[in-house]
Formats: sequence, structure tokens, C-alpha cells
Amino acid sequence: MLERTPGLVPVAKGNGYGFGLPRLAHCARDLGVPMLAVGVPHEVDLVREEFPGDILVLQPWRAFDATAVALARDPRVISTISRLEDLELLGNLGGDTKPRVMVEARTTMQRHGLLPEELEGITAWESHVEVTGWRIHLPLHSEETEAEARTLARAVAEISPAPIGLSHVPASTVAAIADELGSTGPDGTVHPYDVRLRMGTELWLGDPQAWQTTATVLDVHPVSRGAEVGYHQHRVPGDGWVVIVAGGTANGIGMEAPTAGASMRARAISVATGAMEAAGKALSPYTIDGRKRMFIEPPHMQSSMVFLPKGATPPAVGDNVPVQVRMTTVAFDETIEE
Ligand SMILES: *Cc1c(COP(=O)(O)O)cnc(C)c1O
Repeated sequence: MLERTPGLVPVAKGNGYGFGLPRLAHCARDLGVPMLAVGVPHEVDLVREEFPGDILVLQPWRAFDATAVALARDPRVISTISRLEDLELLGNLGGDTKPRVMVEARTTMQRHGLLPEELEGITAWESHVEVTGWRIHLPLHSEETEAEARTLARAVAEISPAPIGLSHVPASTVAAIADELGSTGPDGTVHPYDVRLRMGTELWLGDPQAWQTTATVLDVHPVSRGAEVGYHQHRVPGDGWVVIVAGGTANGIGMEAPTAGASMRARAISVATGAMEAAGKALSPYTIDGRKRMFIEPPHMQSSMVFLPKGATPPAVGDNVPVQVRMTTVAFDETIEE
């Protein structure tokens, strides 16, 4: 990925895409990249020891955040500026070092960023803060965002020829913009413009063969049809086994993030009606003896009860069974490198 993506800026934020922020910071150090991006100011402390380079905070700087204010004085940290008024505050912060910033331009995502007519305004502050670059955060890639990336990149480069950071565009777009905005030296060689690509999901989770997620079987009890089990004393639907397996709400089991698109309505309905109430009807993410099995009741904090029907081969206490998780919401008890 690094070879294919000149200017790669790894993103380590949230739950560290399942691997944890310190581990990702360590990986970024091994990659030898000069910059790592985190999501919010509080995450800087979790990567600072492992990663020796610049740390970019993606969430725009705000004066109400005491951590963000303190970090603005840290020479290793680059704050994101999304409003001219915040640039003015940072410019007047005082201290020994100039705050280092990247300036975010508003895109069709309509999240944060300076409007096109405001971009010029940063030049007034260039002697008070170090503008290390521009940031463009686009919606997921399409023909429109491709065109938007090019137009915005040209607009910001004309105001100040600082590096441009993009996300969610193919590496080929980055290369095309770098060539388009690049300069040609007197001897005819092209010097590409400094364009960087921030990447999280594709970098850390792009190869699903690279990791395995398992849960440990904590207990197995044979049960007969109609037996009452669990906090809610639900009846089991048949003869078989109750399997108590590690992983519960504290790990993000049974608490999946909503998916995008057409299933939103269905999701909203199942959340509103508490679909888990339908005991024995909810498919769990645990695979036991080759198939996903039903929850007996909603997962507990750190374990879940699932039903294994007669005819299946029960696991042994201590076995590890596959569990399907969403890597950006899961909290593992342990991650092991092999
Ligand atoms: C999260 C984030 C990224 C990385 O997103 P992925 O989809 O995980 O690659 C890039 N830029 C910004 C501003 C982000 O917040």
C-alpha cells in the first residue's frame, strides 16, 4: 500500500480499527511515514510514544477543548483549522512556537471547512501560525468527487502552494492532481505537487485474510426442550446445549453500527422495537460447529448465551470459535500478533 501510495498518511482513530491506537502508531512508525493522523485531541497521547513524527488531529480545532488548546503549543502536533475565527484565536495564542495548522476547505460533504470565498483569508495569519497544508475531506469516491477534488485542489494551491491532503480518492487521482499542479523545471523535468492521501480502513482492513476474530467458549450445558435459562428465563427452543461464550455488549457484540442505504429503515424499526426481545430469534455472530447460532437472550456485558441444537457437535470449554465483528466498533479483550 505504501509503495502504491506516495504521500500516504495513515489514520489511527477511534478503536484503532480493532487493533488499538498504540499498535497502529507502532505500525506507522515501521512504515517510516512522516505523519500520522488521529481523530480527536484526546487520541494524541495514545500514539505519541509509539510514533515519532508529526501527529495531525483531524477533528477541527476548537477553543472550548482544553486538550486541543494545549496541543496547539506542541511542535509535533498539527491542528486542523476549519473557521477563520479559530485561526485568529490560534494566531493570538502566544508562546514560544507558532501553532502548526492544516486548513480544511469545505466540500460537498458539508461537514467542516472554510467556504471558497473565505480561503483567501488565511493569508492574513501566515506570519502568526505555520500553515503546513490544506485538507480536503470528500464524500465517498464518484465521478463528482473526483472533479471536486481537482477543482478544490487547484483553488487552494493558487492561494498558497502548501501540500494538499485528501481522503477517499484513488491513488491514481492523487497522482493526477500532483502532476496537474506540478511545475516543470528549466530542464523539462516535472516536479509533482505535494499531494497526500489519508487512509484508514483500506490500509488497516484492506486485506481480510490478515486477521482472525475468535471468542472463547466459557461453558457448555446440555438442555432439554422448554428448559428455562438466562436472566430472562426464556425457554430453549429444543434439545441441545446452552453455550456461554466470551464477548458481550462491552465488546460491541450485538451492538452493530447501522449500515448505510436501503436497510436503514429496517434497522430503525428493529432498534425501535427491540428486535432482541424476540428471544431465540436473533442470529448471533458466533459460529459453532460450522454455523452461526441463535442468541438465547440479549448479550450480557462480557458474555453471551447461544443455543446449539441437538445433532450438532458441542465445543469444549476453552475452545476458540469464530465470531463476526465490525472492526470499527469492536473492543477486543486481547489482540495477538503471530
Ligand atoms: C476517518 C477519516 C479518514 C480515514 O477514513 P477511512 O475511511 O477510515 O479511510 C480520512 N480523513 C478524515 C478527515 C477522517 O475523519
